[in-house]
Amino acid sequence: MSLENNAAAAPAAPSDFIRDIVAAHVGEHKYPRIHTRFPPEPNGYLHIGHAKSICLNFGIAREFGGICNLRMDDTNPTKEDIEYVESIQADVNWLIGGWAEDRLGLKPHGKTPETKTGEGKNDFFLPPVFGTSENERKHSDVKLEPFYASDYFDQIYEYAVELIKRGKAFVCDMTPDQTDEYRRNGKASPFRDRSVAENLDWFTRMKNGEFADGTRVLRAKIQVDAANVWLRDPLLYRIKHADHHQTGGKWCIYPMYDFAHCLSDYVEGITHSICTLEFEVHRPLYDWILESLDLPRPLPHQYEFARLSLNYTIMSKRKLMQLVQENLVTGWDDPRMPTISGIRRRGVTPEALRNFAYNIGITKYNGLTDVSVLEYAIRDDLNKRSLRRLAVLRPIKVVITNYPAGQVEELNATNNPEQPETGWRKIPFSRELFIERDDFAEVPPPKFFRLKPGGEVRLKYAYIIKCEEVIKDAAGNIAELRCTADLDSKTGGATSARKVKGTIHWVSAAHCVDVEVRLYDRLFTEAEPEKDGRDFKSVLNPHSLEVVTAKCEPSLKDASAETRYQFERLAYFALDLDSRPGRLVFNRTITLKDAWAKEAKK
Ligand code: ATP
Ligand code: MG
Repeated sequence: MSLENNAAAAPAAPSDFIRDIVAAHVGEHKYPRIHTRFPPEPNGYLHIGHAKSICLNFGIAREFGGICNLRMDDTNPTKEDIEYVESIQADVNWLIGGWAEDRLGLKPHGKTPETKTGEGKNDFFLPPVFGTSENERKHSDVKLEPFYASDYFDQIYEYAVELIKRGKAFVCDMTPDQTDEYRRNGKASPFRDRSVAENLDWFTRMKNGEFADGTRVLRAKIQVDAANVWLRDPLLYRIKHADHHQTGGKWCIYPMYDFAHCLSDYVEGITHSICTLEFEVHRPLYDWILESLDLPRPLPHQYEFARLSLNYTIMSKRKLMQLVQENLVTGWDDPRMPTISGIRRRGVTPEALRNFAYNIGITKYNGLTDVSVLEYAIRDDLNKRSLRRLAVLRPIKVVITNYPAGQVEELNATNNPEQPETGWRKIPFSRELFIERDDFAEVPPPKFFRLKPGGEVRLKYAYIIKCEEVIKDAAGNIAELRCTADLDSKTGGATSARKVKGTIHWVSAAHCVDVEVRLYDRLFTEAEPEKDGRDFKSVLNPHSLEVVTAKCEPSLKDASAETRYQFERLAYFALDLDSRPGRLVFNRTITLKDAWAKEAKK
């Protein structure tokens, strides 16, 4: 299929300045294929900011018939771990699976690009083509895995040697502090004019492990007093005597991000290297490295967009790690975390997250996105897909005195009014019920249309009941409500026309199942947790988790992890992975309405 056909077949996606650029390139046949990448560093779990980047990079590959490589940007072994590699793979698969997984660029396990040292001056590293087409994947018995920057350590090393040979890199013996100071002041390193032969010797010895960490670095020779500080002879390689999660003990020197990134992009044949705005100032260095090596064209090009910042949220892996390590949350996948795994565990669907990423758009200006935009996308998605169920979170007992003991009626209840084809289910009604404590008020405030002494209310899918008597225990707490039902008022019945102002939910006491319900709320009480340098841990919401035992209609015994539920009049819920047969745990994904907006108005 040609690029044009693919583009035409893709569903409408929003346009933005990056997609406009890509569309123009497709139009002028600038590249044989559009190739993007998502390059996380495996030093923590992915968060919702990464989701924005994933949706952009895979979205472009999907809309323009291209491929998006998943690449671990693993140049800093001391901060990285295989646990993070695995979680990143799982999160990316969850987010794009069923949507853009055929766009996922992977490579055969263990395969690294070949180093070509050919005749022509330009062909010593031709970008290899890995098996990434759908066909190749289907027919390959080789396990596929993500790309790793560490796959290219051999090449990157050779590229560094080549830069030295071209007089464009030198080994510098200054201390890190001296180097910083010299760069700040635009001063040349005293080692800048070492000969090529000397530099090659020192660099080889660095690689061979002769020197301690921090004693020498390889630096690019660009311009010591460049206006852009990133061009002031930046570091390309540092010494780190540390084992790497992929390459083990093979290396004691590791390339810096700026050196490894553009070259990894090049080696993979990336066309559009899309990153967040803080890398804009690095772009001249990205281009300088590729051009200084005089690599065969086409070269990848870097484009920058605004990172996602959400209010009531912190988004840096380092700080999220603090929450985990200090046990302020239960783990990276705590449903209150803005991590993809936390959001997933909370019950949000990949569709909702992708819709959110589409709704916020791609711009060049950093700003703060209101978390209500995310919550809207979640509610919108869950409203469409959730099965409606009756559950009572904080029960109070109701006895229908005129309903015969032992009698059980099976009433019809709608599964999902948004999807009539999901039909009906039966819910049992009997003499003893539970209703929500909040739905009864002994001394009702004005406009209270739920149950009150002497008042009437409709039980959803059932009868109108009237509260005749409030029974209290010795301590004066309400023990139960004695009510009568209007037995002619059954919902859907021939004589059901009578209307009352309020409708409440309920479950039958004899039939309901007890489940644990975890009521999650925002993790921070302040919109900007770190405003004016405040410690974000000082504004953690003490009520971000409340656990209750809820009484649920019996059909919830068969709840499944894939299904989403709306407990009517309450919130959306999903089964938590802590659930065991006979002991289900539900997470509140999100309330039906935005309680925080109401609070803000007050
Ligand atoms: P953090 O600063 O949160 O620790 P990071 O930038 O160090 O994140 P990386 O693993 O380096 O995390 O990021 C992988 C990709 O995700 C990069 O291309 C980066 O630009 C992008 N990314 C990271 N954070 C955001 C964000 N908040 N919004 C959009 N894209 C992001
Ligand atoms: Mg980073």
